[in-house]
Amino acid sequence: MADALVILYQKAAEVTRKLCDQHCQNRGPNHCCQAKYCEDTREFARKHYGVELQDTGHEIPFMGPAGCTVAPHLRPACSLHICPIQWGKGLGPEIDAAYLRMHCEVLKEARAQGKVPEFSV
Ligand code: SF4
Ligand code: SF4
Repeated sequence: MADALVILYQKAAEVTRKLCDQHCQNRGPNHCCQAKYCEDTREFARKHYGVELQDTGHEIPFMGPAGCTVAPHLRPACSLHICPIQWGKGLGPEIDAAYLRMHCEVLKEARAQGKVPEFSV
């Protein structure tokens, strides 16, 4: 049976990727990824899914030629993050509200499964 949390993170990653594509001035091949976020991801995947993620050899450990190599549910902070909403003025009431609903839905399921990330998302 499909895992609801996996599906919710896949959808969230699609939403945030589209919003980044549309609204981020800094969008590029490696955009905002940093090694420290990969290390959070490594710990999360190990602790909650028993998965040992493989480094790609890139200076950002999980960055591949076509972007991140990690499934969305294993990198919760990255999948949910969108700067203008979390750190900026938002993207307008409708988009912000839709994002908040999605964020709450993901974390509700994460709580139900005992997989809430230890770091902020
Ligand atoms: S999206 Fe992937 S490569 Fe980027 S910081 Fe997160 S885990 Fe690392
Ligand atoms: S997460 Fe932030 S810096 Fe990264 S692409 Fe999106 S808006 Fe830009």
